[in-house]
Amino acid sequence: MTDLKSSNIKPNAPITECIRCGICCEKGGPSFHLEDKHLIDKGIILSKYLFTIRKGELAHDNIKDELLPVSSDLIKIIGKKNSFICIFFNESKKKCRIYENRPVECRVLKCWDTLEIEKIYSKNRLTRKDLLSGIGGLWELIEDHQARCSYEKIKSMLQKYDSAKKNNLKNDILEIIRYDIQIRRLVVKKGGVDPEILDFLFGRPLTLTIKMFGMQVKREGDSYMLSSK
Ligand code: SF4
Repeated sequence: MTDLKSSNIKPNAPITECIRCGICCEKGGPSFHLEDKHLIDKGIILSKYLFTIRKGELAHDNIKDELLPVSSDLIKIIGKKNSFICIFFNESKKKCRIYENRPVECRVLKCWDTLEIEKIYSKNRLTRKDLLSGIGGLWELIEDHQARCSYEKIKSMLQKYDSAKKNNLKNDILEIIRYDIQIRRLVVKKGGVDPEILDFLFGRPLTLTIKMFGMQVKREGDSYMLSSK
């Protein structure tokens, strides 16, 4: 990145190099690709700074500029509290805190010429399987969770049930949501898993993502209720 003060860029001139405006880092952290695997394997970027968008979940496609269901896991860097701003972005200094080890998407992104990022954007995406399949016990739990709580499963239930079976549909979806809640509690309580890595291991909670199907979950004590948004 170039220091704006020492650059020759003039106001209103077309941008031809990074001026450290920080907009790309404020719009959200990158998705990981196979080339980035070592960053996580070696603990250079810790799992607590990651989250998973699971297959079928809606995510903003930065190239097509629209919300689309993802075709495989997307492992992403989390945002700062209540925002999309990458957790590693130092806003006051307009600097990346992991600049030397930033993932490949950050390396190739040039906002003034998107050709390079377009080439790699959908290719070789890193998945949880690439990172976790060697961890016996945990990986089986993740696979089981995915089988029980997949977005494809919920989508097909919504297509299959007619309006006469609306209550059955709600109960069946609630059962999936309860499992998603329980497995997270269980691995923390019994497995000693750090709660901060749950959204990486199991994706974002269904209590939040179910809204993509036009539903919302309400909690009263230990009971959960599903309603239309
Ligand atoms: S990792 Fe660094 S360069 Fe990439 S979005 Fe975050 S702050 Fe910006």
